[in-house]
Amino acid sequence: MFSELEVQLTETIASEFGLGPDAGGVLASGGSLANLHALSVARNQAFDVHEGGLAGLDGEPVLFASEVAHTSLQKAAMLLGLGTDAVVAVETDANSRMKPSALNQAVQQAERDGLVPFCVVATAGTTTTGNVDPLPAILDVVDEHDLWFHVDAAYGGALVFSEAERDRLDGIEEADSVTFNPQKWCYVAKTCAMALFADLDVLEEDFRVGAPYMRGDDAIPNLGELSVQGTRRAEVLKLWLTFQHLGREGLGELIDESYRLIALIRDRVADQNVLELASEPEMNIVCFRAAPEWCPPNERDTLNGRLQRYLLSRQDVFVSLPTYRDSRWFRVVLLNPFTDKSTLDRLFDGIERFLEAERP
Ligand SMILES: *Cc1c(COP(=O)(O)O)cnc(C)c1O
Repeated sequence: MFSELEVQLTETIASEFGLGPDAGGVLASGGSLANLHALSVARNQAFDVHEGGLAGLDGEPVLFASEVAHTSLQKAAMLLGLGTDAVVAVETDANSRMKPSALNQAVQQAERDGLVPFCVVATAGTTTTGNVDPLPAILDVVDEHDLWFHVDAAYGGALVFSEAERDRLDGIEEADSVTFNPQKWCYVAKTCAMALFADLDVLEEDFRVGAPYMRGDDAIPNLGELSVQGTRRAEVLKLWLTFQHLGREGLGELIDESYRLIALIRDRVADQNVLELASEPEMNIVCFRAAPEWCPPNERDTLNGRLQRYLLSRQDVFVSLPTYRDSRWFRVVLLNPFTDKSTLDRLFDGIERFLEAERP
């Protein structure tokens, strides 16, 4: 029953993304495995190495992703026998979005170097700052060089459920494959992730390894043969229950509400010249830091580290402090549906009080 539900629900979600009538997918225990699955299909299709393996290939395969793309792509490249260096890092703009012109140059450079480009991965929702690569412009480059187009929408895929915000994903409908983690912005308990394919038949051709001891009813595909994991967990049930409970409208409302809160944060950061934004927020994630003039740039990481602990101990607000572009930044992720304006007031009141007290 869960296998049937998995087939139906991944088809439904693939069609939400506009992937076309032949699209569908399989669940995976996390986005890293979904990326591995998609890249293995892309590689097998490009080089026909499903059976024979990589030995004897004429050139080294390379794929392209932005410099802030998720590290699971490197893991996938390593596991696929390509090596982590096969992931060519493409430069991003000030807002962490891949530069299509830099992508084009990187692909051409790789070709001149005798490497063999086969895939471009665009990110819809970067892990640290939640930015979305410009999918339509990237697609032009992908088409020009005839590459596989994978969109890592592990985080941002949820936008498809918001009527107001879904156009941020424009271009995703042209993807060959998509990674999507409902365990992130769809509030489904971990784990619940999926790899979607525009043409599900590619799995038959470029992935499937048959398990003769598992022969069953041919009307239902054996998902264990078509995906990295053999054992199927009942993760699809949680996803199905989320749709029963919240529905796509409920998910849309939660997403829209977090945009209202993010706008409040963004405006408060912009209003205070002691604070700076890491990048323009595009989703429910925003990174910023305290950068008061009186604190020398090389002491700002320490200052923000102390402010982070102050906020937790005095204001009962937790923000993480990742490193981004060689500095530490507060990272606010509005995934708790009970976070409201009063929490944000506690955050900013705490920041103000701390900086007031620290000011020489
Ligand atoms: C979270 C995330 C992943 C990895 O997902 P896991 O479930 O942690 O394996 C991959 N890509 C992006 C963009 C992510 O945000």
